[in-house]
Amino acid sequence: MNFPTLIIGGGISGITSAVELAEAGQEVVLIEKDNYLGGNVSHFNNYFPKLCPPSCGLEINYRRIRSNPRISYYTGASLKNICGSDGDYRATILLSPRLINNNCTSCGLCADVCPELRPEKLGRTAGEKAAFINNGLPFPMKYCIDPEVCLREECAKCMEVCDYNAIQLNASAAEVEIQAGKVIVATGWVLYDAKRIENFRYSEESDVVTNMEFERMLAECTRENSKLTRPSDGKTPQRIAFIQCAGSRDVKHLPYCSAVCCSVSLKHALTLEAAYPELLAEIFYIDMRLSGRNEKLLKQAEDKERIILTKGKVGRISPSDQETGLRVEVEDIASGRKRQDAFDMVVLAMGLTPAPVAVEMKKNEYGFYLPGQSSGLIPTASCKRPMDVSSSVKDATASALKAMQK
Ligand SMILES: Cc1cc2nc3c(=O)[nH]c(=O)nc-3n(C[C@H](O)[C@H](O)[C@H](O)COP(=O)(O)OP(=O)(O)OC[C@H]3O[C@@H](n4cnc5c(N)ncnc54)[C@H](O)[C@@H]3O)c2cc1C
Repeated sequence: MNFPTLIIGGGISGITSAVELAEAGQEVVLIEKDNYLGGNVSHFNNYFPKLCPPSCGLEINYRRIRSNPRISYYTGASLKNICGSDGDYRATILLSPRLINNNCTSCGLCADVCPELRPEKLGRTAGEKAAFINNGLPFPMKYCIDPEVCLREECAKCMEVCDYNAIQLNASAAEVEIQAGKVIVATGWVLYDAKRIENFRYSEESDVVTNMEFERMLAECTRENSKLTRPSDGKTPQRIAFIQCAGSRDVKHLPYCSAVCCSVSLKHALTLEAAYPELLAEIFYIDMRLSGRNEKLLKQAEDKERIILTKGKVGRISPSDQETGLRVEVEDIASGRKRQDAFDMVVLAMGLTPAPVAVEMKKNEYGFYLPGQSSGLIPTASCKRPMDVSSSVKDATASALKAMQK
């Protein structure tokens, strides 16, 4: 029997495996736990090495999905459990209620009349309604309703304005069973919990943000054509510190290198340099770890006056003596001196860990999934080890080839 390949995770890796398999004539079922495909890349402001927007890369893949009948996909879908073996897996998938069905034409009238707001979050569009659409490049191009915030039948204003019978306020969670021959696990990464690094005061200081939050703040500014402001008081920051290896290469936290964080901070500093002539970015690093084409980011940053690269491990972040601001304590390796400098914002280049998933797979000493334990279960890309988009795409293509082998 030829069952389809199940792909868990609809980020750039899962999408790549799906289109490669389908274009080679294989049936594919792709599941994504978020309401939209695209994974972390879809929330970026831009991405290296070329610093292009996420639409460059995602858009073409969405077109390939739309035009290929061999790909079925579910969003708002996460794996509950899986059993079986190579050639014959059975997966139970939990579908969360979207409250808007496929009749949606994305006209946006539901959001116009929706009175409820989603809680504010860094990087989330301010004033986002309970009826919303992904603020990046939404796929599927359909609204959904946040079930945590929606008042359902108590309000139902969206039902009154929707001419397409798309609103389903009484929808509830459902389960589907999928039979699959192979399973590609492309569940990606989650950031290490910044709260665990107590001396960086992430929980206490709203101006200490993770690199992913900063990415989303920049993306929000690009979308809204607005200026970057710091969370505590809405002022434009003048000095931003980037702290490398926040949680990585640290025996108390993650002993390994997270591979992409140096390139990410250089990308952020270069993006700021281009948009904010008054701003100074200083990157504190242990050593710069860049690979392949990403090395040119370092060269570009070295040539900029307003980007300072300081070799030294940051020991502590504390409130500055000035009324607002943060003090960064660092041992500057080049001068051999301890420095205490004030910054308006601090961006933590957080370590990456594998996203948890309900599949029994062997793991390496750091919790990343190991390939080859069972020939039908194929871990892919950044759930195997931290890697950038270009390496993830190559790995996902290799996984598609593995899934085609009997
Ligand atoms: C701040 C930051 C900026 C970065 N910038 C760049 C850059 O500019 N250029 C670059 O090349 N790389 C960059 N990277 C690295 C890049 O994010 C990864 O290479 C890329 O996200 C890997 O894609 P992926 O599909 O493997 O994983 P992800 O993007 O993490 O996607 C995994 C998907 O799986 C879904 N999922 C997880 N668990 C389940 C489940 N149980 N069931 C269903 N679905 C599930 C998730 O919701 C997600 O959509 C950056 C990383 C960080 C931290």
